[in-house]
Amino acid sequence: MSILVVGSVAFDTVTTPFGQATEVLGGSATYFAAAASFFTDVRMVAVVGKDFPEEHLDFLRKRNVDLRGLQRAPGKTFRWVGEYGFDLNEARTLDTQLNVFADFAPAIPEEYRDSEVVFLANIDPDLQREVLSQVRRPALIAADTMNYWIKGKPDSLRQTLAMVDMLVINEAETRQLAGEPNLVHAAQKVRALGPRAVVIKRGEYGALLFNEGGWFSAPALPLEAIRDPTGAGDTFAGGFVGSLASSMNFADAAVRKAIILGSVMASFNVEAFSLDRLRTLTVEEIEARYRVFKRLAQFEDL
Ligand code: AMP
Repeated sequence: MSILVVGSVAFDTVTTPFGQATEVLGGSATYFAAAASFFTDVRMVAVVGKDFPEEHLDFLRKRNVDLRGLQRAPGKTFRWVGEYGFDLNEARTLDTQLNVFADFAPAIPEEYRDSEVVFLANIDPDLQREVLSQVRRPALIAADTMNYWIKGKPDSLRQTLAMVDMLVINEAETRQLAGEPNLVHAAQKVRALGPRAVVIKRGEYGALLFNEGGWFSAPALPLEAIRDPTGAGDTFAGGFVGSLASSMNFADAAVRKAIILGSVMASFNVEAFSLDRLRTLTVEEIEARYRVFKRLAQFEDL
């Protein structure tokens, strides 16, 4: 089934201990769409400015991403400037320029309104709800958010969470959202806000799932070649939701498998700056790494 994603398309300027990239392709919807496109059809709703080059759109088109919902507004594209220290799990935001996002009103094209799966990538929670008001009856609504909105628009974010089935969120933000240092208690508190499943991204330590089946811990691949963690969360979400949308099976076992596929996609994305690793990625490479993941936490009962 097709996924409708709404989120940011951005120019990112990123510094990591391994290098720097200036005004490269980024954005929550971009990473998500590119990753999910390996699993199913993706429809994108976002906004770019007049300064956004056609070559970036060609990359998404080549990945079969439906861009009929992409608006081009007068003004500049959203920009994010961030850096990472040796702890690659925590991005420090140095600058956020909303630009065309400041006046963005997501308009869902008629052809997208029957989308069965919706992913509300990290954007203003007011806009996330505006999207939901325009779709008919999705079978699955998943969402992401970040500290910027947890701090800046807590009430609006709660209203959005009440409408969401699955929340994909990072560890520090789970604690911040719940106002609770213990992660298990924090996840329970977040589930009480609406989402029946909370998937907590823990960077190089993997991911945790809290749902009605209890909890599940997915490992992360120990990687030798990490260069830029930007977009890891969104590529994780792209693999996760992409896998669920391709099977339309939301039972616990399918959610666990989807978490592993999300981890596989994130593990590739961090190997290069921007979306560069996803540009060359093949289905065969995804399948091979999936097999590596399967063995990662396997042990025998001796
Ligand atoms: P992540 O997957 O969490 O590393 O997300 C990285 C992407 O989020 C970057 O490419 C940024 O352009 C985008 N981003 C950062 N801040 C915001 C924000 N406040 N709203 C929407 N997107 C953002």
